[in-house]
Amino acid sequence: MKDVRVRFAPSPTGPLHMGGVRTALYNWLFARAHGGTFILRVEDTDQGRFVDGAEAYIEEALSWCGLTPDEGVQAGGDCGPYRQSERTALYQDAVQALLDRGLAYEAFDTPDELNELRKAAEPDVWQYDATTRGGLRNRLALGADEVAQLKADGVPFVVRFKTPESDEAVVFEDAIRGEVSFQTAVLDDKVLMKADGLPTYHLANVVDDHHMRISHVIRGEEWLPSAPLHVLLYRAFDWDHPVFAHLPLILKPTGNGKLSKRDGDAGGFPVFPTNWTDPKSGDTWPGYREQGYAPEAFVNMLLMLGWNPGDERELFTADEAAKEFSLDRVVRSGARFNPDKAKWFQEQHLRGADPETHLAALQQLAANKGLGWDKAACTQVLDMMLERVAFLQDIVDTAWLHAAPAAFNAKLVKKKWKDQTSGYLDDLASELEALDDFSSEAVETRFKAFLEANELGFGQVLLPFRIALTGEGGGPSMFDFAAFLGQDATLRRLQDGMAAVEEMRRHD
Ligand code: GLU
Repeated sequence: MKDVRVRFAPSPTGPLHMGGVRTALYNWLFARAHGGTFILRVEDTDQGRFVDGAEAYIEEALSWCGLTPDEGVQAGGDCGPYRQSERTALYQDAVQALLDRGLAYEAFDTPDELNELRKAAEPDVWQYDATTRGGLRNRLALGADEVAQLKADGVPFVVRFKTPESDEAVVFEDAIRGEVSFQTAVLDDKVLMKADGLPTYHLANVVDDHHMRISHVIRGEEWLPSAPLHVLLYRAFDWDHPVFAHLPLILKPTGNGKLSKRDGDAGGFPVFPTNWTDPKSGDTWPGYREQGYAPEAFVNMLLMLGWNPGDERELFTADEAAKEFSLDRVVRSGARFNPDKAKWFQEQHLRGADPETHLAALQQLAANKGLGWDKAACTQVLDMMLERVAFLQDIVDTAWLHAAPAAFNAKLVKKKWKDQTSGYLDDLASELEALDDFSSEAVETRFKAFLEANELGFGQVLLPFRIALTGEGGGPSMFDFAAFLGQDATLRRLQDGMAAVEEMRRHD
């Protein structure tokens, strides 16, 4: 394969949707898999749709995901500038080359005139093409003199691509979809350069992919309809076109259609990598980062939305994925997003990573909440809780870990707390009070000896013990938890818990 150079080419018209991050990821992986170069190009020629802060958002989101560009606005590189708004001379030259060779032409029709024509025709049938262009106000229909005059008068004009007149089939190979074939007759004469002298997406995209020596264009399916025009443009310029690969859509969790921001709002899950605040409305949309997802988990989830290794494996680090990634394992049909599965990836990631890596993060979260957990406490808490949560935040949000319970599960109390229970717990308390060593093992040994001596079963004492200490019926080992609390706090919670539960039972 020739030098692999791929690009992610977002338009800074808003935040990056997770579909966009997946496109960036597949490009990044493809570059890594082939020792190639991953380029970030900012397609900002549509001034009307420019959104403040969007470019910075994109850079930051990619960096959070670990998808750092090898070349780009921030990274630099010898194909710059990497913002299209800074490359306008290049597009003007390119358009001039097509004009000189009669492969493009100036058109003076106003938007109003064109709208009238569209309205008068059957819906969706009118287009600017070989069948209509002869009767319109353009270089091909007007004489050279009139065009010169209009230009001299400063009448605004656009430059359109002259689609080949004879209908022919154009065929190209999509690395994911296989052969794509289309008839030139269905194409219209797309605008290449707007009246303001700025290029359209099509022109700038093709010119830049050529000048940046892009070998593979890996992008979302929504760009597939543009590919035929792009192939013709490459041909008009006498350039080879890159390999095209159009990724499947990401589908909403249920029903038909593409995953949208609205689905996220309705389903209570983020569709953006990081929080996005709309600069105009001030509204904020949630991001995976702020919801507590690890970037590795988010990236792993996106990896599996449209690609598979050919077997059942689902857990990959980015480096592992880069070793195996190939476009022929990208699926053609839409990939359905499942928010529960996203959470599953996060859980797997949390448990799979070395607890050491979570320690600093947990310390930070605990400090933010003013919990006063030092490093040793955080280590103990991680030991107890890591298997039980999806997010580190869930740990600091587990109130009974750091404060005596304020409420006790009424249903459990009713079912499991008998008249004798408090008596057992009182005796247990005396046993625990007598311990010199309050390690988890010591508490467990004494607890078991107590059960044996009194011919009691685990169920009769352990669950009430848990209820008294936490208010709930599930959680980590109560021996670990007692050791974490320490002797005084354990005994205090036990006594207070018993008193509170007995009070509840009296009112029942
Ligand atoms: N600027 C386009 C976008 O916003 C780029 C499409 C492409 O990759 O060709 O996605």
